Amino acid sequence: MITFGDYLLPKSLDEAYSAFISKRSARLIGGGCFLRMGNRKIGLAIDLSQTGIEYINELEEEVEIGGMTSLRDFETSQILKNNFGNIIEDSVKHIIGVQLRNIATIGATVYSRYGFSDPITALLALDADIYLYKGGRISLEEYLKEKDYRKDILEKVIIKKNIQRADFQTIRNSAVDYAILSVGVSRVNGKYRISIGARPRAAILAYEAMEYISNVEVNEDTATKAGELVSEEIHFGTNNRGTCEYRKEISKILVKRALLEVQR
Ligand SMILES: Cc1cc2nc3c(=O)[nH]c(=O)nc-3n(C[C@H](O)[C@H](O)[C@H](O)COP(=O)(O)OP(=O)(O)OC[C@H]3O[C@@H](n4cnc5c(N)ncnc54)[C@H](O)[C@@H]3O)c2cc1C
Repeated sequence: MITFGDYLLPKSLDEAYSAFISKRSARLIGGGCFLRMGNRKIGLAIDLSQTGIEYINELEEEVEIGGMTSLRDFETSQILKNNFGNIIEDSVKHIIGVQLRNIATIGATVYSRYGFSDPITALLALDADIYLYKGGRISLEEYLKEKDYRKDILEKVIIKKNIQRADFQTIRNSAVDYAILSVGVSRVNGKYRISIGARPRAAILAYEAMEYISNVEVNEDTATKAGELVSEEIHFGTNNRGTCEYRKEISKILVKRALLEVQR
């Protein structure tokens, strides 16, 4: 069970941030799905639902997704589909069920850098940036490399509209289980980005494979070779969903599939 000492419903991010840094025991509440798992006592719960960061805005060169946007809105947005195809939908449709996706938020998901996160794998492939209320704009790639957590609010995720094609592949033991591995691939001006998530640690880019595949014609042979490069350069681990060796093997297949899908 989760219990709150105090509960605050701020009307702005400024009010939320001031309260957040004023108390060590303060905790932001997005959808609350993860926080409510297990027993937890939160001194000050700061509910972000009234801070005005629930939106998906299409600008001239990028799309902005507010931190309180639900995974379901993220999944079904026509703006995101028109600009990026099915990669966004494919990265969230396996998460439990519509009820949970109606509640869980993209801001909490990205900020928390969960190793199993499917949307992070997709967003990393799409070269997304994040905007932190205090820390400003940084690339997701850099944010994922940071060792410490900043005490900040994830205000929005920003995706540039220059993506030509993108794809998401994953393998799970059952439809709604956590992923054993996830792969995101995108193409911008002939350059490919390959992200590998649920390794089981947080998603990272496969730089050597990206360099290789961006300089050759993509076909069955080169996509196979890129998959092999990924399996060698990425550090995989073992957990109760899959072994390091298994992840290494399936990475070859998922990368090849995603590359062939993206080059079509
Ligand atoms: C049973 C279950 C199964 C799941 N399976 C999957 C899965 O297969 N794949 C997958 O990708 N995800 C999965 N998830 C995770 C889910 O997609 C969300 O990432 C998770 O629920 C967090 O979203 P939330 O809005 O509920 O966060 P909350 O529980 O509200 O918050 C989580 C953390 O983020 C912080 N936080 C909240 N909002 C912000 C913000 N805007 N800025 C900064 N910090 C913030 C909170 O303080 C807290 O520390 C699963 C979740 C559950 C409960």
